[in-house]
Amino acid sequence: MTQKQDIRALTKDELRYFFEEQKDKAFRGNQVYEWLWRKGAHSFDDMTNISLTTRKMLNEHFVINHIEVDDMQKSSDGTIKNAVRLHDGLIVESVLIPTDTRTTACVSSQVGCSLNCTFCATARLKKMRNLNPDEIYDQVVATDQQSRLYQNHKLSNIVFMGMGEPLLNYNNVLKAIDKITSDEGLAMSPKRITLSTVGLPKMIKKLADDEVKFNLAVSLHSAIDEIRSKMMPINEKSNLAELLESLQYWYVKTKKQITFEYVVWKGINDKKKDIEALVDYCKKVPSKVNLIEYNAIEEDGFMQADEKAIAYYVRELERNNITVNVRRSRGKDIDAACGQLANKK
Ligand code: SF4
Repeated sequence: MTQKQDIRALTKDELRYFFEEQKDKAFRGNQVYEWLWRKGAHSFDDMTNISLTTRKMLNEHFVINHIEVDDMQKSSDGTIKNAVRLHDGLIVESVLIPTDTRTTACVSSQVGCSLNCTFCATARLKKMRNLNPDEIYDQVVATDQQSRLYQNHKLSNIVFMGMGEPLLNYNNVLKAIDKITSDEGLAMSPKRITLSTVGLPKMIKKLADDEVKFNLAVSLHSAIDEIRSKMMPINEKSNLAELLESLQYWYVKTKKQITFEYVVWKGINDKKKDIEALVDYCKKVPSKVNLIEYNAIEEDGFMQADEKAIAYYVRELERNNITVNVRRSRGKDIDAACGQLANKK
């Protein structure tokens, strides 16, 4: 038996061509494409302006692989964590984070992760595969629906900060963002999308060359190679100097400042030398800093630094005219906070 193809892997032109080949009208391809993306249909039966015969024919040739929200957990602060089942049974997680001014979807780009950051729960899951563009897109659609239902307004922002390293799934992530921002998809502004990466210099340059319009965030966590390599083994392959060079390249090409994501851990990066190194690094490329509250994962031995150390970071960054935000963590009680996504219920 030949396996049916996932219809959402087809471009609009390919779909138009398919209908022509079936001796039907090409514009039928446009109608089906609209159902698949803008209207988010998960079944050919939903396509009410397509004749029954055509729907039957589509059913014979294609499937619509789509996600299912298997389990939804709600935090006391309104954060929602979804266990998302993919068509092959694998699970990833996505999170909806409401605040007073916005609702943000945090989406996954890979099943598991291969990069082994020592503080991250996802790193404990073996990397199984990359997500397809439609699987990323569906997470956004599902969180948008939850935002409308529970917050009474549509999703305002998206961050690629869930499971996986988005730049290791480059083509699919960019295709998904294309759909999310296109009028034929969700028509969201790319300015409301942030891709967060461990910082892969070659891929950051590629993003700049591809003239992407979304924002870039880098998980920095230390501006001292020795310390960063301990937290993020990837730093041994591409160190801070290489990363900086790629970020400068990004800025020259895009004119967009970079956001550094930074957790301050007790006894690891909470000293004066750590702060000075970060200030120095930030001065070399237009950037701002998000200091993120750390959420301990069981038995990992890391602890959030004292408030005094955080305040010291804030003071020194501000004294050097570097914008800094302290991000209090959300969804802690359901393991939905940064670095906690590990398919736990
Ligand atoms: S922090 Fe991101 S890149 Fe590092 S292991 Fe976790 S998911 Fe992977």
